[in-house]
Amino acid sequence: MSATIIDGKAFAATVREKVAAHVARLKDENGITPGLAVVLVGEDPASQVYVRSKGKQTVETGMNSYEHKLEADTSEADLLALIDKLNKDPAVHGILVQLPLPKHLDEDLVINAIDPAKDVDGFHISNVGLLGTGQKSMVPCTPLGCLMMLRDHHGSLSGLDAVVIGRSNIVGKPMAQLLLGDSCTVTIAHSRTKDLPEVVRRADIVVAAVGRPEMVPGDWIKPGATVIDVGINRIDAPEKGTREDGSVKTRLVGDAHYESCAAVAGAITPVPGGVGPMTIACLLANTLTACCRANGLEEPEGLTA
Ligand code: NDP
Repeated sequence: MSATIIDGKAFAATVREKVAAHVARLKDENGITPGLAVVLVGEDPASQVYVRSKGKQTVETGMNSYEHKLEADTSEADLLALIDKLNKDPAVHGILVQLPLPKHLDEDLVINAIDPAKDVDGFHISNVGLLGTGQKSMVPCTPLGCLMMLRDHHGSLSGLDAVVIGRSNIVGKPMAQLLLGDSCTVTIAHSRTKDLPEVVRRADIVVAAVGRPEMVPGDWIKPGATVIDVGINRIDAPEKGTREDGSVKTRLVGDAHYESCAAVAGAITPVPGGVGPMTIACLLANTLTACCRANGLEEPEGLTA
């Protein structure tokens, strides 16, 4: 069997198109432009790239982007004061504080200072509770993107056996809640799970969110199952040669061993080009959703959980 490749890059483009079309209607019919504020503290190079990309895509979909770049030694009080200002700003519908924060800042305290209605990352404790109790919430972007791709591929997920490998607060746990919300029978596996291969072999849907390169081999996968690979791991790729400084070139791989899994699975997301592009697309979708909710307007169809 050769798996269908779930093209996250193309899917993300359709999500952005839907967001842009809805934003255009909001402007025309209601005179409202959704706005996303992104706060970056310090100069972590990876975070800078993410923030630039988020700002660019926000503007491309017709929304307003507000970037707040703060010094690495910004005090907690100053950061909280900025969040308070953004919470009160009616032009800002979504607030994202880029993680990780410098060590001297308490991430939980900062995230929980964001107005839950503007918490487009879905990390605020109120949103975690709302999602856990099956109520309307802001949903973390990466699992939301996975859910959208699964719904698109399967139609109904009802009754399917799903195994989520990984129990982090940003991916594993919310992913499991979303699958439960769609009536899957959900198992959450982690580093203490006994006989992980057997657990994974039961699954119609496998979501790998571990952070260990190519950990899941094809012989763990039930024939025909869907594999959603959240992992983003950079490994040495000596076959690509060396850089000018003599270091070995690298490549990105997921948590699933792509070739062997694709030979058995019914469908699989590649890395790169699978879950990754969906994360920012879902951030844009969440900003639009937050804007619609704030204004008592109809929410965009197919862009929420
Ligand atoms: P965390 O490190 O927070 O969590 C990893 C989880 O994997 C933990 O629950 C851990 O278990 C579990 N785990 C570790 N080793 C094993 C093992 N041998 N067997 C079974 N489970 C194991 O990672 P994140 O959830 O933040 O991220 C996971 C991956 O997804 C990373 O590669 C990350 O880069 C990627 N990612 C991708 C995103 C995207 O946009 N595509 C967004 C966010 C993350 P335990 O709890 O027992 O320690």
